[in-house]
Amino acid sequence: MANVRSTYTDKLQFFGNNTPQELVQRFGSPLYVYNENILRTRCRDLKNLSTHPKYNVNYSAKANTNIHLLRIIHQEGCVIDAMSPGELYMDQQAGFTSDEILYISNNISSEEMMNAIQAGVLMSVDSLSQLEQYGRLNPGGRVMVRFNPGIGAGHHKKVITAGKETKFGVTPDNMPEVLRIIAQYRLHFAGLNQHIGSLFMTPEGYLEAAAFLLSLAETLPAEILHKLEVIDFGGGFGIPYHKYEGEAPLDIETLATGLHALMTEWADRTGYTGRFLTEPGRYIAAECGILLGTTHCVKNNGDNRYAGTDLGFNVLVRPAMYDSFHDVEIYREQPATDGPLMEQSIVGNICESGDIIAKKRLLPEIHEGDIIGMLDAGAYGYVMSSPYNQRLRPAEVLIDAQGNAHLIRRRESLADLMAGYETPGNGAASR
Ligand SMILES: *Cc1c(COP(=O)(O)O)cnc(C)c1O
Repeated sequence: MANVRSTYTDKLQFFGNNTPQELVQRFGSPLYVYNENILRTRCRDLKNLSTHPKYNVNYSAKANTNIHLLRIIHQEGCVIDAMSPGELYMDQQAGFTSDEILYISNNISSEEMMNAIQAGVLMSVDSLSQLEQYGRLNPGGRVMVRFNPGIGAGHHKKVITAGKETKFGVTPDNMPEVLRIIAQYRLHFAGLNQHIGSLFMTPEGYLEAAAFLLSLAETLPAEILHKLEVIDFGGGFGIPYHKYEGEAPLDIETLATGLHALMTEWADRTGYTGRFLTEPGRYIAAECGILLGTTHCVKNNGDNRYAGTDLGFNVLVRPAMYDSFHDVEIYREQPATDGPLMEQSIVGNICESGDIIAKKRLLPEIHEGDIIGMLDAGAYGYVMSSPYNQRLRPAEVLIDAQGNAHLIRRRESLADLMAGYETPGNGAASR
């Protein structure tokens, strides 16, 4: 093959027995492609963080809810979270049983809360008012409380700067009130969880926050502490998005050593017999996914060079929404003399000036017809896609362990754009 820039995927044999060009010819463009081996490896990386018998990985389903990926993650022995009735439904469809699902709720209605209670899944609430609501709906039930370690924990500076999300969690100073509501509704205080924010690249902040959660749990009365079932340290495990600059991955070994020591020492000291969870989304799903697109136009506007593609922000919104960086590969069958790198922006086909998926990158010259690969698109990619501009959501393909490609979700059709409309009654149509 004579690709222009593909050393990363070549080394991994990411596309298995296929070339990106063949995949686009067979399944169309744009196209999300997932590699099963990489997905399984990422699950195992985090499952191997600790050999503590009660440690497990609670995959955060919002990163990617494709049913086929969920089934693989289930096969790998992970459990899963849900943050909405839709995620709960998909978790169940993928085969997760009610005791393998943790419902992490945030400002939900009584109906939604009741739906999860009736599904028999353990729920975490993230405010005193939602704890009260839970107590009223399900007196005597099991419930977890999500804490926000940032506030009132001055010695956890790194945690605070690591991304305190003020909307979330109960601050630790509210513990007496938590215990009062628990007692009032005879609830079983089943566990504590937290999530300090997303995309950390060094272990220290996470370990510090984990130690904080354990020290908070230790302040609980002994009769509660000894009946706790779950301590969930949250997600946020980062991945190196700057592949071609050689960005270092997260130091999993240091994280593993630290976390394992924290959990085992604490469980030994306190007599805790419940489970420990980490809750990664991105780390599991990001690197197994690449978004392929096609270049339809190249042009210069003044000093700016643009490669115009079908990779609009309806397909991958992270760059437009968060200014996120995804590395780029370029695939072309014709042998090409690469020539010098030049500054180019890769843009999509959405009618907005912010529709830029890769801004002012130094890349080999992109030609019309080139296939573009956006790396690390498996997390917060398809799940955040939309039919904006009435552009159809792309198809999704899985490269299995033998390197063969399978369509796992079809491309949307024009008929999908008409699905869901009702004919207004009572002459509303003529109003
Ligand atoms: C989003 C989220 C996660 C996963 O975050 P990542 O950065 O993808 O690992 C975990 N827990 C909660 C509560 C979340 O909201």
